[in-house]
Amino acid sequence: MDKLIKNGTLVLPQGQKKADMLIRGEKIEIIGFDLEYDPARTEVMDAEGCLVFPGFIDTHTHFQLDNGRFVSPDDFAGGSKAAILGGTTTILDFATQNRGETLAQGLANWHAMADGQTSCDYGFHMAVSDWNPDVSREIKDMADAGVTSYKVYMAYEALRLRDQDIFALMSRINEFGGILGAHCENGDLINSLVERLRSQNRIRAAYHPFARPAEVEAEAVNRFLTIAKLAGAPAYVVHLSTAKGLAILERARTNGQEVYAETCPQYLLLDESRYKIPEPRNAVYILSPPLRTREDQEALWRAVENGVIDTIGTDHCSFDLEGQKDVNLHDFTQIPNGIPGVEHRAALIFTDGVTEGRISAETMAALLAENPAKIFGLYPRKGVLAEGSDADVVIWNPDRLSAIYAATQAHGVDNTPYEGFSIIGGIRQVYLRGELVADENGMVKVGAGRYLKRGPSQKLRA
Ligand code: MN
Ligand code: MN
Repeated sequence: MDKLIKNGTLVLPQGQKKADMLIRGEKIEIIGFDLEYDPARTEVMDAEGCLVFPGFIDTHTHFQLDNGRFVSPDDFAGGSKAAILGGTTTILDFATQNRGETLAQGLANWHAMADGQTSCDYGFHMAVSDWNPDVSREIKDMADAGVTSYKVYMAYEALRLRDQDIFALMSRINEFGGILGAHCENGDLINSLVERLRSQNRIRAAYHPFARPAEVEAEAVNRFLTIAKLAGAPAYVVHLSTAKGLAILERARTNGQEVYAETCPQYLLLDESRYKIPEPRNAVYILSPPLRTREDQEALWRAVENGVIDTIGTDHCSFDLEGQKDVNLHDFTQIPNGIPGVEHRAALIFTDGVTEGRISAETMAALLAENPAKIFGLYPRKGVLAEGSDADVVIWNPDRLSAIYAATQAHGVDNTPYEGFSIIGGIRQVYLRGELVADENGMVKVGAGRYLKRGPSQKLRA
């Protein structure tokens, strides 16, 4: 059946426009008024009073993450349902090459977890932890497999690369039009600070942020962007959390570098006071980078409002409080890092961004769909409501009121950092490539997600 979405307010890059949209098969056929259609083969959906967004893209998830001690309970099946129920129709997860593995092995491991299980479309960034000439040769194979974005860690002993390897990786990726993202924290300094905290017996959960102050991020952002400048390559800073890091990024951009910034809802909506609440609850907020100050939050909001931040991803990496986060409260270095979020990103940004008047709905669409699609080689197939694009469509009820509770969320864990948050707006229908996959009562179709081969990164700025 074709689908005709009538009377909705479409959120288009150039602004909002009341118009109808005809979906044929997996694609948006036409956008306009008084569209001709065959009633016998067309399902009509009245979207009066609703916003119609392009399906949202989460640039940063970790489903079924195995940190060596614990596996995060949201696997590709569960995590992708939570995504769809929040209006996210595409996720980009991090396939990871462990040391000693080829990139092909890393990619195959993630396909084995995701293929056939996933309810939203998905692609993989490739996290590289072992750089050598064989891996360099594989960068071409990865481009052929639709992997055009990569990640390096500048912290975490088992994963991080030396600066010279980041330089070489970045240069090689750039030959294929790809882009490198980085987890920007200075791993050596974190080790030093952990050692000092341990000697002072300040190692319980509440001390987690003391090991990762803003300087640790800012130094690594500066180093990563310096490497990018010398390599002549574009760079993407994941989960930017501080005003200090932001200032460095803005300076690099002012100096003509092609640099992109991602932040996350938690750095806009939560602050470091959460570490002072009693154990075990404060362990919910153990993630890296940690939550920051109110001043950092405000600086990040201003950057979102002014178009300095390009994307908002979740860094979804959920662990249970009971039995995972709460078993080593006496030593924060043993507590699994991460929070759930893939379900609630759009609702949180709509509530605190759009209804508060900080950003327009079209800016929200840019941050959550269009910019991710461009930077990560999916545009205009994804990220925009346009004729010929995939019919990934979110009919959004701007008046729906709800609240976030661990007990009622779709995330498969026993906690949420947004417990009790009031929410304005939510999905009414979600279409994935023309098929209704969820409505306000829950999932309609599961397991319909497909792997996305992605093309070269597209420049956001001239
Ligand atoms: Mn990270
Ligand atoms: Mn991450």
